[in-house]
Amino acid sequence: MPKPEFIFTPLEDSHVQVAVICSKKLKIHMRVRSGGHDYECLSFVSFIEKPFMVLDLSKLRAIQVDIEQNSAWIQTGATIGEVYYKIYEKSPVHGFPAGIWTSLGIGGHITGGAYGAMLRKYGLGADNVIDARIVDANGKILNRAAMGEDLFWAIRGGGGGSFGIILWWQIKLVKVPSTVTVFTINKTSEQNANKILHKWQQVAPNIDDDIFIRVQIQTTNSSVSGKRTVLASFNALFLGRTKKLLHVMSKSFPELGLAKKDCLETSWIKSVLYHAGYPNNTPPEILLQGKSITKFSFKSKSDFARQVIPETALNTLWELLLQEDMPTIFWTPYGGMMSKISESATPFPHREGTLFMIQYLTVWPNEEKNIEKHMKWIRRLYDTMAPYASSFPREAYVNYRDLDLGMNKFNETSFLRSSTWGFKYFKNNFMRLVKVKSKVDPSNFFSHEQSIPPFPIKSKKN
Ligand SMILES: Cc1cc2nc3c(=O)[nH]c(=O)nc-3n(C[C@H](O)[C@H](O)[C@H](O)COP(=O)(O)OP(=O)(O)OC[C@H]3O[C@@H](n4cnc5c(N)ncnc54)[C@H](O)[C@@H]3O)c2cc1C
Repeated sequence: MPKPEFIFTPLEDSHVQVAVICSKKLKIHMRVRSGGHDYECLSFVSFIEKPFMVLDLSKLRAIQVDIEQNSAWIQTGATIGEVYYKIYEKSPVHGFPAGIWTSLGIGGHITGGAYGAMLRKYGLGADNVIDARIVDANGKILNRAAMGEDLFWAIRGGGGGSFGIILWWQIKLVKVPSTVTVFTINKTSEQNANKILHKWQQVAPNIDDDIFIRVQIQTTNSSVSGKRTVLASFNALFLGRTKKLLHVMSKSFPELGLAKKDCLETSWIKSVLYHAGYPNNTPPEILLQGKSITKFSFKSKSDFARQVIPETALNTLWELLLQEDMPTIFWTPYGGMMSKISESATPFPHREGTLFMIQYLTVWPNEEKNIEKHMKWIRRLYDTMAPYASSFPREAYVNYRDLDLGMNKFNETSFLRSSTWGFKYFKNNFMRLVKVKSKVDPSNFFSHEQSIPPFPIKSKKN
């Protein structure tokens, strides 16, 4: 991995302005890191521009929650877990609809969309931003009024590292009930997982907006045959109490067999810990630790399903899963609020007609020697799934950044080249993003392997 010349860690907003001005003057390319979760490491590694520095926002993490105004100002070095905690500290009946994984940096996360267990009820984190402060390519600090509606539109889903450095987000808080219900139900192939998954595809995007049932599909040793088999875990949040949940589920999704004993009534903040995978009884204060607890290597890809995947195709998918060491597939249901927001309201275009998002993942230990084997496997899986995914374009989630979809070249950002991934991530919003970029950063100061290019094509001038 190419290493930066140095890492600069600002302590105040004005230091970020200074960083932009000095980076231009010294001709050192800049990468911006908030939580550092970029799937292709683009916030701290540059494959195309050298020398480069990293602007690390981790010391800018103030959070000011104003319950009366139903909003909060957040510095972008904060994690989404810290944001959830600070809201909970002020009110147990307010929350924010963003990521499930709590160590995500709010800077990179919201710039690409930010979905979580409340997306069917309230949409994405980016749909709930009301103002922002950014440092532009001239080193100026701009709020929403000063930056204008075009740039404010672009930074809420157009992907990180293209338009400026977000210093602060002002977010709108959402109402959550004092008691919510969570459950996880596991079904293996022997327990009819196929049929249930087939039904899930028809139910989960159309059920009550208060119900979110995500599926995690992995492999496991069967307790019946002892052989490797497929395991589907149905992981849910219901914004209400168990009694109503059981009533809705018995009518809409009896095949899952949800019973009272499977359900846990809890507070919204504890449901955050539950979905993030913390053990029971972990105190919410763990969210303040601000760092990821898991260290692993992985490659991931994404798809959007607009049609139900037939059971026969699921069988082929399982055969492929059983060939890999540590594969995982997530199905995240859409519908609800996601269908009510228009495709062009923000750059995030995967709205009405999307049944669910698919994430393919293969994980390996850091000391693994044969990484190519895992890369080949996930690319084969992606090719196999093409007939069942959205097409023209085959859509992808920009926050699951994937350089297999193409990348900018050294010192040159080509519109034609970038349109290959641009239309996948943003559909027709890509053209508007290019227009905004051309206006606010024509010399392409903020650039990386998949940044939005200015138009007409320009070579980079620092
Ligand atoms: C384990 C894991 C779980 C995840 N779970 C979810 C999930 O539940 N929901 C979901 O929607 N996504 C999820 N993601 C994807 C996540 O949203 C993206 O990786 C996101 O970009 C992470 O933001 P970050 O600040 O942590 O990353 P970074 O690597 O710091 O930044 C990502 C990109 O944004 C840019 N950037 C960072 N900060 C700023 C800023 N202040 N201004 C402008 N640009 C900036 C970076 O330069 C980079 O291009 C997950 C990722 C991982 C690794």
